[in-house]
Amino acid sequence: MSNLESWQIELQNCVRTVDELEKYLPIENKDRMREVLVNMRLSITPHTLKLIDFTNPNDPILLMCVPQEKELRFSPEELVDPIGDETKSPIPFLTHRYPDRVLIYATFFCSLFCRFCFRRSKTGEANPGPSIEDRDRIVEYLRSHPEVDEVILTGGDPLTLLDSQLEDWFTRIRSVESIHRIRIHTRVPVNLPSRITDAFIVLVQKYSDATHPIYIVTHFNHPNEIAPENIIAIAKLVDAGVVVRNQGPLLRGINDDPIILEQLFKRLADIRVVPYYLHQLDLAKGTNHFRVPINRGIEIMRELQGRVTGIALPRFVLDLPEGKGKVPLIHSYTQKQTDSDWEIESPFGEVVNYREPEC
Ligand code: SF4
Repeated sequence: MSNLESWQIELQNCVRTVDELEKYLPIENKDRMREVLVNMRLSITPHTLKLIDFTNPNDPILLMCVPQEKELRFSPEELVDPIGDETKSPIPFLTHRYPDRVLIYATFFCSLFCRFCFRRSKTGEANPGPSIEDRDRIVEYLRSHPEVDEVILTGGDPLTLLDSQLEDWFTRIRSVESIHRIRIHTRVPVNLPSRITDAFIVLVQKYSDATHPIYIVTHFNHPNEIAPENIIAIAKLVDAGVVVRNQGPLLRGINDDPIILEQLFKRLADIRVVPYYLHQLDLAKGTNHFRVPINRGIEIMRELQGRVTGIALPRFVLDLPEGKGKVPLIHSYTQKQTDSDWEIESPFGEVVNYREPEC
């Protein structure tokens, strides 16, 4: 009898080859698709397979996880390291872009390889992740940078690690007094919700308390991804005291529609996930077909401003190339007329005058 947990068995049963994928949908040119997989592997979890309508070639979940030949078209502005993870990496497996927080790449493995992934050059390769020596060096780095009070475990997907491997990370990070918050960036609650086991919840509770929380930032991109199993996984996390937030990119033909985004953000708020960031897609190689013009993103967010409750409205942001940092992309509602007079646009498009008191 297998000692594996159900989520590990599910991981073993992912669709990983072109031949396996062909059981679900016809593939015109299998050799071409294999070429695509040289740049980034294929993996679709059984949970996500169930949510795809394979009779619809424009099914949003299908578009997010089934490789397309378009991934072989590179635009000149696209980059291998689109947000400068390497530029700001003082030691292996760590990026230090902002003064108060660092990213740690705990693994480059993912349960599902998203075709728009901005780290596709890393997640696409069979990188074994940090060795014990790398992890020791990371802890030393944290100790020598007391200005860092937050660690973001990312990858790849850290929640594809075993509980024992996660506990190793938690123990190491919690041994550094200056670290208050641990954040985990993961798409597992979306693609592999069975991973959120009772044992994992116990682990998270063991390494968090009232002033040393663990945040989970998950990655739902479309309301169709919120199935009953996902709702149960999120409820377990939130009930255990984990703060769960959501971030994801604006994707052409998938969620670049105010109605779809309204549904997504409100459903997330309903299941106690706070919509946090909507990202303008980074300039990763072979992802041009997913990119939405910035103007369109700003317009969509402007439309949602008057109609979606503030607790469900994320910020639309762009991570600038070369590790220059994240900035909000926003419609400007204000125009200064005189020293004290402003014209301000309402969420419904009216222009309203606002006069400041004279000092
Ligand atoms: S889960 Fe995250 S890191 Fe992995 S392929 Fe998707 S976007 Fe990339």
